[in-house]
Amino acid sequence: MASGQLSRAEALACSGCRHACHVMLYCDTKSQLFGRLPIRHIILMQMRFDGLLGFPGGFVKPSEETLEAGLSRELLEELGVTLPILVEDHADSCYAPASSHSSSSSPSSRLITHFYVKKMEEEQIREVERAAASTATDHGQEVLGMVRVPLYTTKGGGGLAAFLSHSFIGNARSQLADSLLRLNLVAPEELHKALTHSLKIHTHTAEDLQVAFALTEAKRKRF
Ligand code: AMP
Ligand code: MN
Repeated sequence: MASGQLSRAEALACSGCRHACHVMLYCDTKSQLFGRLPIRHIILMQMRFDGLLGFPGGFVKPSEETLEAGLSRELLEELGVTLPILVEDHADSCYAPASSHSSSSSPSSRLITHFYVKKMEEEQIREVERAAASTATDHGQEVLGMVRVPLYTTKGGGGLAAFLSHSFIGNARSQLADSLLRLNLVAPEELHKALTHSLKIHTHTAEDLQVAFALTEAKRKRF
């Protein structure tokens, strides 16, 4: 087991820890962008209330429910559908990075994040998207919208690289990258290239932010 990783049983043995479960729902697809770029797989993520990208899920209480039942409960709120999650869907558990602890957390309430992966049929994924935007109680509140992860690279270098350069909650970006490799959804060489390009985009984004910042400064001084 990789360092920092815990088995499901080891993680559950920490009764003083807080636990959060998230899932990557995905399917294969034959559809193509612009009728020529294969989309290959649909992977669902979401724009969260805090402006960060993440996977659906949330806090669970192992003293009252299984991890999987807790995750299903969270999914019903965020996606508006009942999705059974099985122990077999568990991918990994690890301590959340220190930055995702609230300032009031004591060391005894360390957060453990459990990650699940569930492959579905394309029609089921489309149904989840429809329900998430209509019947889900969290829509417009904790969840601002579901998004698909672009796995392709356009001629201009857009697609996966640009997606990966956004801001993610906790270790969600690593969970995504790890799943893409483990499930063979993207070749390692392709992911490496996309991440190299993401780092360049990041530099450009910082410059772009400086321009927006300067603009705001100028406006602020006028009033
Ligand atoms: P949520 O209710 O979905 O916000 O998740 C509960 C907690 O888990 C929050 O405190 C987040 O900081 C944390 N969290 C959410 N998604 C992830 C993730 N992918 N990796 C690590 N921590 C996460
Ligand atoms: Mn959540």
